[in-house]
Amino acid sequence: MHYDGSEAGPLHLTRGRGAYLYDTDGAAHLDCVNNVAHVGHCHPRVVAAATRQLETLNTNSRYVHDNIARLAAALTATLPAPLDTVFFVNSGTEANDLAIRLARKRTGRQQMVCVDGAYHGHSVATLAATSAAAAQYAEVLRAGPAPAAFLVESVMCCGGQVQLPRGYLGRMYEQTRAAGGLAIADEVQTGFGRSGSSFWAFESHGVVPDIVTMGKPMGNGFPLAAVVTTGEVADAFRSSEYFNTFGGNTVACAVGLEVLAILEEERLQESARRVGAHTLSRLREVGDSRGAVGDVRGRGLLLGVELVRDRGTREPDPELAAFAMGRMRAERVLVSTDGPHRNVLKIKPPMCFSDEDADALASALDSALAAGERELPAGRTGVRPPVPALLSYL
Ligand code: PMP
Repeated sequence: MHYDGSEAGPLHLTRGRGAYLYDTDGAAHLDCVNNVAHVGHCHPRVVAAATRQLETLNTNSRYVHDNIARLAAALTATLPAPLDTVFFVNSGTEANDLAIRLARKRTGRQQMVCVDGAYHGHSVATLAATSAAAAQYAEVLRAGPAPAAFLVESVMCCGGQVQLPRGYLGRMYEQTRAAGGLAIADEVQTGFGRSGSSFWAFESHGVVPDIVTMGKPMGNGFPLAAVVTTGEVADAFRSSEYFNTFGGNTVACAVGLEVLAILEEERLQESARRVGAHTLSRLREVGDSRGAVGDVRGRGLLLGVELVRDRGTREPDPELAAFAMGRMRAERVLVSTDGPHRNVLKIKPPMCFSDEDADALASALDSALAAGERELPAGRTGVRPPVPALLSYL
């Protein structure tokens, strides 16, 4: 039997509120993994803002509208000074695709440097930027073909919630710029205060990117994403060179404005910092008592629990991860698996997640791991072969 956690089939949901999702029987599931419903599922203020705007005007950015200008201003106010030009799009994929296109246009080069285990989207260009690897990044940057840009998340999310080493982004940005390339920060998962300590995760590395991409939480589930860059980079496009029918529509912008207002008024970044620290310590307590936990890491409400066969060798245990996910789901606590070996439990709940929710999560994880110790065959296999450490230019 393969423990992929899906024996029960997909969850059939009917509604959501806050950090909870409700199934067809009306049972509540604690959502520990939805980083799109950022300010909480069906936040009444978001619903009201979208409804009001839908009743008034829903059209595209071919026309001037206050919402577009106000959202662009509100976003750039969260970013360092040279990042003052916004393109609105509909998904993280579109944002990264456009960022790649801008970097190529600005530099006149094609090559992108990306990081092993990354995911940046499902289009041809962003898929090519996914799971490319560099063993000796800085050296390769010096030796390889001149890149248009270096594209990286400020915390590796699909890569397994991996924190970048201190100084890494600074050195990579420096090397990229020395080679004439641009630095692109993919903040699709990490932005909007999730890391607790700063609004954008790159800020904690003391760097300023040339292009920032954002998406998922920006519209709280409504399709809304953006690329923010400098006027200089944006000038690479002629005025009519980019058009996106739905990007920056008036309803999406109304939603985006409301999400930013809620984040501030409900002090959700501060909450992510505080509740995240509590969650981390509760998960670490579980880790201390369960040998299968190789690492518990993260910041704010961006956490990962790495499950291993052996703490010494850190051999990944994707079967236990899938088993734990399935058991926790049966306890109505929803998590998912991430990382190149799918052995990292991803914990990224809506930002209204509470200390009590964290306690419920830790207790469900502890029981699931205890069940795994009892029920999974000791000689199980299922570890995917390691991803080769190659640098890929695309
Ligand atoms: N970048 C990152 C870091 C992501 O995690 C994702 C989606 N998982 C994307 C880009 C693509 O976003 P979307 O699915 O909205 O196209």
